[in-house]
Amino acid sequence: MASKRDDGEPSTVPNMKWYFDKKTKQIVFGDVSAIEPDSEEMKGPDSLLYEVKKKLDTGPPPVQLLDTLDLDGIVNFIKGGKCQNIITMAGAGISTSAGIPDFRSPVTGLYDNLEKYDLPYPEAMFDLEYFQKTPGPFFSLAKELWPGIFKPTPCHYFIKMLHTKGLLLRHYTQNIDTLEIQSGLDPEKLVEAHGSFRTAHCLICKKEYSKEFMEDKVLAGVIPRCEHTECNGIVKPDIVFFGDMLPKKFSDCVEEDFGKCDLLIIMGTSLVVQPFASLSHRVPINTPRLYINLEKTGTEGVNFAFIFFTGGFKFDDKDNYRDVFWKGTCDDGCFTLSQKLGWKDELVNIVKQEHAKINKEVLLLKSKVKKFSSQKTKSTESRNLGKPGTHSDSKISVSKSKRKI
Ligand SMILES: [Zn+2]
Repeated sequence: MASKRDDGEPSTVPNMKWYFDKKTKQIVFGDVSAIEPDSEEMKGPDSLLYEVKKKLDTGPPPVQLLDTLDLDGIVNFIKGGKCQNIITMAGAGISTSAGIPDFRSPVTGLYDNLEKYDLPYPEAMFDLEYFQKTPGPFFSLAKELWPGIFKPTPCHYFIKMLHTKGLLLRHYTQNIDTLEIQSGLDPEKLVEAHGSFRTAHCLICKKEYSKEFMEDKVLAGVIPRCEHTECNGIVKPDIVFFGDMLPKKFSDCVEEDFGKCDLLIIMGTSLVVQPFASLSHRVPINTPRLYINLEKTGTEGVNFAFIFFTGGFKFDDKDNYRDVFWKGTCDDGCFTLSQKLGWKDELVNIVKQEHAKINKEVLLLKSKVKKFSSQKTKSTESRNLGKPGTHSDSKISVSKSKRKI
């Protein structure tokens, strides 16, 4: 990549190999050693880069804790009892084998298959401002993807196994499908960075509603409305839309957990969505990191570069001392890991038993969906599905942010 700034001007700083896109606030290519602490780029929300650089400059040299920089090295590390505080981070890739589409994959991804909802732009599906005026498309999608219709994957059960074995500090997920909870993972061990369908709130009076309340409405094709007298606000599942804040538990746990992490496992995410993506550099400098994914980088290399230059992955670098990449699906990665750890039979059995248990529930829910689909509802609400202007609330001020689903 050429050594030039985002304005197209060549860099005037010797050895400068990066440029900073002020519009997207991202580093496109670079060299940490060339970053000037007092430069404009190091101020404000991006000062994190400077903080990381300071740490790298002043701390003791990093130590390689893995025997080898591959999956066997990770396995020996776990087997040797060298880690008890594993953090797992996951994205849509851990749920695709359950049948849930991810958001950004070309052709099969959710954003490429939204024509039927007649959205002005794909991200409108999760835009709070748009949702308040036009909630129909979101609830139509919610009906299709309603939690309970899908079964957790082997990868979900592997994460639960880590907890059962006393090795899991916390699991951070970007997914809103609640499959972690369905796999039986202790909610205490789970951070749903982008919220979930488990609870919901009225957008006006903030009254909380249960998943059961929402389920009946959503599956019947009715927009959920607040039951408080004279409120009638739209009830929105507590998933993070563009314009929403991330859950408090996310920031609390990040603060508490990452300094203790002795092994980081990242699965099924192309690490393009902030602030989730930048968590990988928050672990201690010697902590090994395993990345299981179909691709080594996301298609949006810009964000990957951001991570790279903030203490990020060094898979193919000569000075790599802790990063391991395993190419493949999350399920295959977890099965391979389990096999090498001697846990494979256990994992296979758990998947078999748990799936047998929930098969019945999944069938019940599917028949409920069918029943609702065959009923022609006469409610005004359902006739409004997909049509703009069903409700708007001027009391709520909405500002767009970088928060993404
Ligand atoms: Zn209300």
